[in-house]
Amino acid sequence: MLVNNQSLMETYQRFPVQMVKGKGSYVWDSNNKTYVDFTSGIATCNLGHVPNRVKVAVSAQLETLWHCSNLYHIPVQEELAQRLTEVTFGDRVFFCNSGAEANEGAIKLARKHAKKNNKPEAHEVVTFTQSFHGRTLATLTATGQQHVKSDFDPLPKGFNHLPYNDIDALKGIDKDRTCAVLLELVQGEGGVVPADPTWVQELAHFCNENQILFMIDEVQTGMGRTGKLFAYEHYNIIPDVMTIAKGLGSGFPIGAVIAKEEVAAAFTPGSHGTTFGGNPLASTAGLATLNEITQNGVLDNANKQSTYLFEELKKLQEDYDILKAVRGKGLLIGIEVTCPAKNIVVEALEHGVLLLTAGANVVRLLPPLTLTEEEVDRVLKVLQKVLMHMEEKDGVKQ
Ligand SMILES: *Cc1c(COP(=O)(O)O)cnc(C)c1O
Repeated sequence: MLVNNQSLMETYQRFPVQMVKGKGSYVWDSNNKTYVDFTSGIATCNLGHVPNRVKVAVSAQLETLWHCSNLYHIPVQEELAQRLTEVTFGDRVFFCNSGAEANEGAIKLARKHAKKNNKPEAHEVVTFTQSFHGRTLATLTATGQQHVKSDFDPLPKGFNHLPYNDIDALKGIDKDRTCAVLLELVQGEGGVVPADPTWVQELAHFCNENQILFMIDEVQTGMGRTGKLFAYEHYNIIPDVMTIAKGLGSGFPIGAVIAKEEVAAAFTPGSHGTTFGGNPLASTAGLATLNEITQNGVLDNANKQSTYLFEELKKLQEDYDILKAVRGKGLLIGIEVTCPAKNIVVEALEHGVLLLTAGANVVRLLPPLTLTEEEVDRVLKVLQKVLMHMEEKDGVKQ
């Protein structure tokens, strides 16, 4: 039975199930029904649910210190920052609590960096159509999708939206007014659309030539999701700034802005801050998660299962006309369908598989990086059953 949720604001269209337990690739509802979780809590539980080493580390931290504010040194936060600089291009890290906050921090950093580097007119941030950067006023303005913006005007100024994967986009960038470009290397919410490598490289080059910061939003693509620790490693580029969040804490809320030294220097005491960001509990979750993802063959497994999944999904594509395209990178996978993606998600849930949508016609798969071939097979079987049913029910619309 569902508890009464009349006390919650109706910001989500929830499925009529209550999740009460998780372990590895599985979650259980209040009727003890088992689901294979191919959402990972939206790219968050990248090590599966309740990963043991993270649990042990956070449990130990729970016994000692939960929170103390950023007025004092926090050893585990400093260790996590150092580890993040070791495994990325970055030299300095600012911790916050979410993806939107990380992007807010990056936008503020870019504007301040421009002011400090004799480009006082450069305040505009270029983002791209169909992008998603968060729900705060600045990040929803940055987002290239109208549905998140309706009725929230007046929106902050200083954002310029250009077409994604379009080389002509460079012409739309005003060199003097622009302080940064912010982009996802695989658009997640916007339909699982990977960026074209040539386009990304030209964009990076253009930014570099014109003292424009090249900032990437790896909130969804980061922490191993695309088969590399960070998606920029696929693209042969070095960004100036990167934001991460979702997968960083295995479900414990934590986000980060990572920047090169020269850029990070724009922030001085008082420039930016947060009460919770990088507190001992969050940093412990982040450190244990990062250590686990970079060890024990986690990325190798993600790549192996990704290859298998893509092969099998392509076979399904041959068999079912309703399935139009399969795309993505690593374990961020989009399946474009000719019917409403939501219908497939609803039926899969009934069959014990959790899936996501990414826009109206894309089913999104975000399984944990630790999944097994057996779990892939289980999900493929359900997917096949659902696709077959959809074709019978709706007839195939091309
Ligand atoms: C989810 C997401 C965000 C927003 O993260 P929140 O933690 O929900 O604020 C920003 N950018 C991208 C690419 C995302 O996928």
